Amino acid sequence: MSEPTNLLGLDRSALQDYFASLGEKAFHARQVLQWVYQRGVTNFSEMTDLRLSLRQTLSECAVIDLPEVARTQRSEDGTRKWLLRLADGNCIETVFIPEEDRGTLCISSQAGCMLTCSFCATARQGFSRNLSASEIIGQLLLAEQLCKNDGISSRPVSNVVMMGMGEPLLNYDSVVSALRLMLDDLSFGLSRRRVTLSTAGVVPAMDRLAEDCPVSLAVSLHAVRDAVRDELVPLNRKYPIVALLDACRRFLRNDSRRRITFEYVMLAGVNDSLDDARRLVSLLQGIPSKMNLIPFNPVPGVKYSCSDADTIDRFREQLISGGLTTITRKTRGADIAAACGQLAGDVLDRTQRSARLCGASP
Ligand code: SAH
Repeated sequence: MSEPTNLLGLDRSALQDYFASLGEKAFHARQVLQWVYQRGVTNFSEMTDLRLSLRQTLSECAVIDLPEVARTQRSEDGTRKWLLRLADGNCIETVFIPEEDRGTLCISSQAGCMLTCSFCATARQGFSRNLSASEIIGQLLLAEQLCKNDGISSRPVSNVVMMGMGEPLLNYDSVVSALRLMLDDLSFGLSRRRVTLSTAGVVPAMDRLAEDCPVSLAVSLHAVRDAVRDELVPLNRKYPIVALLDACRRFLRNDSRRRITFEYVMLAGVNDSLDDARRLVSLLQGIPSKMNLIPFNPVPGVKYSCSDADTIDRFREQLISGGLTTITRKTRGADIAAACGQLAGDVLDRTQRSARLCGASP
């Protein structure tokens, strides 16, 4: 008998196709979406508005398979980090950040990362593989269940950021399927404003995303000169700053109310001068934007250090006086290595990058 199909991660049209392949009506997709994502029911026998014979067929041919929690860590500030074990043994990390008026879930899109950003922990472990749509949306479903078990209110996750491990736009199809499930009223029903995808700047995929699923976009800019950005974000050699900013303008073209969030990690002596701030203001002229300054979070083996608080304040003031809406991102969960750039999971490094970085032969 063939392997059961994991229905988790199939968006509305894929689920309709699945029911068609069983010779069933498309409206069952609607029912299953609501059971799984709105009520958290993963057992077909409990889906009481499906007729009994269909429940039995599904129990034989399909599963709703969630990743397994390998470890839970809680920060002093309430942030939770879960290490999730996938079916093939790879482990990824998901972070829940509770705030007064919202709960933000930071989701991973790949086991490891192909980009070699020089300041990031995920980069140091190399790349194993893309996550499937089920492994991406599974993080959200699981987090909701775990938060509820912890006594957090009935809809704990109000915002999703694709800012965990990996580059989401290098895993385009699975990420878009998962995003569609986040937005679909029959499943999570989150508004586009509350779902943010962060990219290091995969320009062609940014254009596709604007067409296919225009969620909110965050761009990891981090530098204002190509020579510096080439070092920090080597993808810049392929898509340099000017090309990236043009893609940002195109992304906003059809929606005058939206803005792009630019992330800028503050690295002492590397990208934090007032001259850099002035150049940033002029580069972003005409792009509706929000600047997020991210204090660098320490990563073992990484040579950079965080700019001091005064430098960050002066940099921010310079941007604000140049007309840019700017905040300094509050570091959350640093005591459990859950802050930006600290996610490291446990991946089967197919690139052998960690070994190369340690000087060992691959
Ligand atoms: N690959 C995507 C998604 C990762 S999002 C991207 O690059 O946007 C994670 C964010 O944290 C990115 O802006 C990343 O550049 C930033 N980051 C990585 N390492 C960091 C560190 N050590 N301190 C602070 N921010 C870091």
